[in-house]
Amino acid sequence: MTKENSNTPIIMWFRQDLRIHDNPALNHAASSGKPIVAVFIHDEISPNIRPMGAAQKWWLHHSLESHANELETRGCKLILKSGAATDAIAQLKTETGADAICWNRRYGDGEQSVDADIKQMFKDEGLEAKSFAGHLMHEPSLVRTGSDMPYRVYTPFWKKFCEMGPPRAPYPAPEQLKPHQDQVSSDTLEDWKFLPTKPDWSKTIAEQWTPGESAATERAKAYMAADLRAYDTARDLPGPDRTSKLSPHLRFGEISPYTLWHQCHDQRHTADAKAREVWAKELVWREFSYHLLQEWPHLRSENFNPKFDNFPWDRNEAALEAWQRGQTGYPIVDAGMRQLWKTGWMHNRVRMIVGSFLVKHLLLDWREGESWFWDTLVDGDPAANPAQWQWVAGTGADAAPYFRIFNPILQAEKFDKDGSYIKRYVPELSDLPTQYLAAPWDAPATELKKAGIVLGETYPKPIVDHKEARERALAALQASKEPKE
Ligand SMILES: Cc1cc2nc3c(=O)[nH]c(=O)nc-3n(C[C@H](O)[C@H](O)[C@H](O)COP(=O)(O)OP(=O)(O)OC[C@H]3O[C@@H](n4cnc5c(N)ncnc54)[C@H](O)[C@@H]3O)c2cc1C
Repeated sequence: MTKENSNTPIIMWFRQDLRIHDNPALNHAASSGKPIVAVFIHDEISPNIRPMGAAQKWWLHHSLESHANELETRGCKLILKSGAATDAIAQLKTETGADAICWNRRYGDGEQSVDADIKQMFKDEGLEAKSFAGHLMHEPSLVRTGSDMPYRVYTPFWKKFCEMGPPRAPYPAPEQLKPHQDQVSSDTLEDWKFLPTKPDWSKTIAEQWTPGESAATERAKAYMAADLRAYDTARDLPGPDRTSKLSPHLRFGEISPYTLWHQCHDQRHTADAKAREVWAKELVWREFSYHLLQEWPHLRSENFNPKFDNFPWDRNEAALEAWQRGQTGYPIVDAGMRQLWKTGWMHNRVRMIVGSFLVKHLLLDWREGESWFWDTLVDGDPAANPAQWQWVAGTGADAAPYFRIFNPILQAEKFDKDGSYIKRYVPELSDLPTQYLAAPWDAPATELKKAGIVLGETYPKPIVDHKEARERALAALQASKEPKE
């Protein structure tokens, strides 16, 4: 950086990195010595940018509020702009006279082409545009097989990830930010109408979550000190619920994966080394999803495995709605779908169960499930959501084969043994003895009566029979393999 232009502003463009700590682009802006123009752009109109789901928007509203406060305490105002990012940045450059811009990279197709255009715009004028790695620990395009190909299978990806060496240590927050002092036009958060009003479905979500960097930091600290130690044994049990719940914080970059990786490893001691390794591997599943997205940008709309392009998906609005509302008559499925609606989040084991139920028992297209999750999850992630849906559907990279069909009754008996999860989210079954909770239709009439349950009235009868649905799914798979006339 030359001395002459150190008073000319630099634009720090925040995107999915709403944090001060371990933010390489922000560190660059701070160390440039230039006045910083901090901006967030709400862009739903550039080509191939997927509009956020409603629950993500709820989160983003509060996350931006919290981030703006963090910046404010350092004297910096967060400018909000909306519209096509290329236009918004061009306008901001003119308005502030900025001669440099920086950001942390993102990996969607549409996002990358916007970023490339903006970089070019700055370069064409002889100005600086710098991007940094902050969202992922290893750039997805650099994790390659021996024959310089992308990975399709997780285990070799993980091996390669480890061979590439430990991720760099997290950066401290910049000691000082030099704010740009002039008035700059900005939207307000209220202008964006991210919060639901009629109806306001967010109350139960708000009880559960605190978006923002401070809350993310606290949650990580508490998790590392306690529940993480049992991750390897308890992570599949939705009742005790002992996973980290850091996913929405990671989604919006309120905490960095580098920070989490090092916290997880730094506190490692022999007693819980296994739990920590298993958890770190989940962080790398997140990286693997981005690796897939970067290589196969149409991950959310096209079958990764084109053999499924002829699959005879059913169209059944009533079944889809029963699934979305948690009214399928299978308690573990209904508990999961109601947890999602109530809290904006669902336990991973149950995500797999409800996903399998949608595509195999109901024979509905995985894209229907992916879209519903995208709209209702606070952690709805552009890479993990489609990658995991394709995994569950059997259409994806390294997928569970389609013919492996989860039995929702056995899954409930195995992973919700004491029925605590089902009772929490399906209260109309809470007086039924635990042994009948996975399949209430098998309970003796006297037990149902004692528990105040009338199947088909107080709780639905199963919308499909497990055995018949299983056979129908396998027949559909077979049919999709037969050549078309
Ligand atoms: C059908 C389906 C859809 C999913 N959609 C999303 C999504 O939109 N966003 C999302 O973040 N995760 C998604 N997942 C992955 C996983 O369910 C969540 O990341 C996890 O439940 C989040 O809870 P946690 O933070 O307590 O996770 P922990 O178990 O504590 O794991 C720590 C972190 O690792 C990452 N992670 C864990 N499991 C996975 C995984 N299987 N794939 C990718 N990353 C993982 C997450 O960032 C998570 O926060 C989906 C899984 C399925 C089966």
